[in-house]
Amino acid sequence: MKPEKKTAFSEVAALEERYQLATYKKMPVIAERGEGVWLYAADGQKYLDLYGLLFYSNLVYSEARARAAEKLVTIAPASLTKVFFCNSGTEANENAMRMARMATGRENIITFAGGFHGRTADAISATFLGRYRELGKPNVPGHLAAEFGDLESVQQLADDSVAAIMLEPIQSMAGVRMAKPEFYDGLRRLCDERGIVLIYDEVQTGVGRTGEWFFAGSEAGARIVPEVITLAKALGSGIPVATCLVTEKIAAQINENDLGTTFGGGMMAMAAVKATLEAIEQDDMLANVKVVEAHLRESLASFPNVVEIAGKGFLLGLRFTGKAGDIHRALLDRKIITGTSSDPHVLRLLPPLCLKSSEVDLFVKALREVCEGYEHGL
Ligand code: PLP
Repeated sequence: MKPEKKTAFSEVAALEERYQLATYKKMPVIAERGEGVWLYAADGQKYLDLYGLLFYSNLVYSEARARAAEKLVTIAPASLTKVFFCNSGTEANENAMRMARMATGRENIITFAGGFHGRTADAISATFLGRYRELGKPNVPGHLAAEFGDLESVQQLADDSVAAIMLEPIQSMAGVRMAKPEFYDGLRRLCDERGIVLIYDEVQTGVGRTGEWFFAGSEAGARIVPEVITLAKALGSGIPVATCLVTEKIAAQINENDLGTTFGGGMMAMAAVKATLEAIEQDDMLANVKVVEAHLRESLASFPNVVEIAGKGFLLGLRFTGKAGDIHRALLDRKIITGTSSDPHVLRLLPPLCLKSSEVDLFVKALREVCEGYEHGL
């Protein structure tokens, strides 16, 4: 990866140290590119690489990583000042839970019925949705389930064994379930009172999907900010990459070697993160999401078959009285791709952030035809 201009070693090193968790001891080299056995550093020096540093790049500095970390922290809520890069949503959630356990010295994690957090051992054990948890047997101990939107159910579990409360702030796979602002506010207060770490799994809601960079800090979420946000999916526009964004207080509890990952923070993924965030900014996609969401809602407001439109921005759940699966298939026949969910009546829309109102009109027209064809039973 060739930086556009040569940057001084001290600047890159300072950025990496400022914006990332200090989990790796790095060699004083900024890796720029490789050729055969040779690693070329940003200062023009070449090194005989006997340690495979282009795939294990956390052991050297990288301008691409420094800039991606800087960009992420710049757009994040102000209290989230450090990042830890990894490769997938499940890995980000595993690390988030581990950090909460390290920071509090406690073991239990409260998550919610209907939440999905991934398929590796600890994350699937935190997933109380359908039969996912069963698939992860034997489950990791230390997981408790509360009811989403029901603060009292959380209060009952939140004793001094609890390290973290983790939630998808909008439960996507469960059928796009969003709670009232008071619920998020109540969780923040409860965590503050009882020394519990609040983790938002924003693997789906993050990176602009709701029309804001994050659900955390948004009006719909009572403007509250957790100690940890996890991101993946859209973060690299298809290149596998994920991250945990954390507060300074959490970062201070994490020491060298406490967390790690060979590929996390790799140069290609980092270039993808920076390019993704810049494209969202340059094309004003957050504003676009809001405008087009409003158009979609308005267009479907008088649709007799759509009984509810849940969610925010471009994470929307259209509730039908009949089976969403039938509509999904009929739309696919008309060359329109939508998603289903674990709720059989909810059709999910998670379009690219560049979707335009004119393209929404194509969807609405097709949906009208489909619904007319299914007059009975939808
Ligand atoms: N968390 C949420 C909310 C998700 O929707 C997903 C995947 O669908 C994950 C975590 C797991 O992410 P990954 O598949 O990248 O491991």
